[in-house]
Amino acid sequence: MSDRPPADTRWLDRADALDAADPLAALREEFLRSPDDDVVSYLDGNSLGRPLRAAAEALGDFVSSQWAGRLIRGWSEGWMQWPEVVGDQLGRVVLGAAAGQTVVADSTTVLFYKLARAAVDAAGPGRTEIVTDTDNFPTDRYVLEGIAAERGLTVRWIETDPTSGITVEQVRAAVGPATALATFSHVAYRSGHVADAPGITRAVHDAGAVVLFDLSHSAGSVELALDAWEVDLAVGCSYKYLCGGPGSPAFGYVATRHHGVLQQPVQGWMGHADPFRMGPGYAPAAGARGLVSGTPPILGMVPLRCGLDLVERAGMPAIRAKSLQLTGFVLDVVDDWFAGTGVEVASPREPALRGGHVTLSRSDFREVTAALWERGVLPDYRDPGGLRIGLAPLSTSFREVHDGLAALREVLDAWPLPTAARTDAAVGVTS
Ligand SMILES: *Cc1c(COP(=O)(O)O)cnc(C)c1O
Repeated sequence: MSDRPPADTRWLDRADALDAADPLAALREEFLRSPDDDVVSYLDGNSLGRPLRAAAEALGDFVSSQWAGRLIRGWSEGWMQWPEVVGDQLGRVVLGAAAGQTVVADSTTVLFYKLARAAVDAAGPGRTEIVTDTDNFPTDRYVLEGIAAERGLTVRWIETDPTSGITVEQVRAAVGPATALATFSHVAYRSGHVADAPGITRAVHDAGAVVLFDLSHSAGSVELALDAWEVDLAVGCSYKYLCGGPGSPAFGYVATRHHGVLQQPVQGWMGHADPFRMGPGYAPAAGARGLVSGTPPILGMVPLRCGLDLVERAGMPAIRAKSLQLTGFVLDVVDDWFAGTGVEVASPREPALRGGHVTLSRSDFREVTAALWERGVLPDYRDPGGLRIGLAPLSTSFREVHDGLAALREVLDAWPLPTAARTDAAVGVTS
């Protein structure tokens, strides 16, 4: 047991003041809470966003009026175009992408495969390497290993620090005349580090290669300007900050200059120029539609459309501003409460480098996370020793963050310190 004094109310007062001044506070009411809600603090909105009330209604309506009412006619009355229609809204509201370059389809993993394969297939002779980093998200690393095996290519790994992320200098040193594709996460899933996307894009272009960004932890959390940054390709998921719901479809972006040049490998009928002709031979649809392979996941796009409408009303600049305040609040409270407890901040501290989540680390955080879940405080855990605190700006109050951190403090106060932390702790307690 620690002999530190009990929590005072300074941070509670600060949380309440921040909530009172929060221009997005009213939007929290638009999220659905279950009648038997046992959640004290939801700190995993970076992994699965909360549902919107509008999504529950829209899903019910869709089933009873659209599906039941229109039946097969729905496809010719608009469903067929949803990948592009929803993609264009996502492009405009979230990605900084002009219309015609984004579609919603598949899962991030599958779209990532399709775009990475298309890019390496189109690369010139002698371009035999795929450049990525060792701390990239697992699915990206595994898919790239598969593509390398399939195409006889080599993956060139950049070693990244898991408490920060990939830098422009590292990319410049790794790319060259042998690079077919360079691909990175924009916001690192472990640390939340925001990569310099325009700088990395320039470095990759200078080497004559194309860049593919995974925006899963960026979309709906940090501001993006894919067109202005001259990014070539991007993918991302919609069930995190965009609140599409479990397993909602992914999005893919292909810059206009690559249309008709890059060809994705899963040549399904729904990406055909004339799907209902059902003729011999594949001819890809023009533009981003060519990224689609099979029947569009219409039901999965219904809640996503509600999420995008809310993001559009709030505006990405306001969302990013609140996100920075939330992560800043976490850092301030952690520095005050957890000094000397062996808890480390495993995320960047500079605002420009912070994404939407903060990772704290200590060797016993796997068990600590389980204890927090029992109290209705829901962060997540990522090896090694990382407690991720995800802060969805539209649905999270500062009070909720305070209460989650207060629960963490209580758990740690009642918890034996891991051996590695004991020396630090002795120093901290007396300071
Ligand atoms: C969440 C996430 C994914 C998810 O991929 P799925 O195909 O939806 O499982 C992919 N990449 C990154 C960086 C992620 O954070």
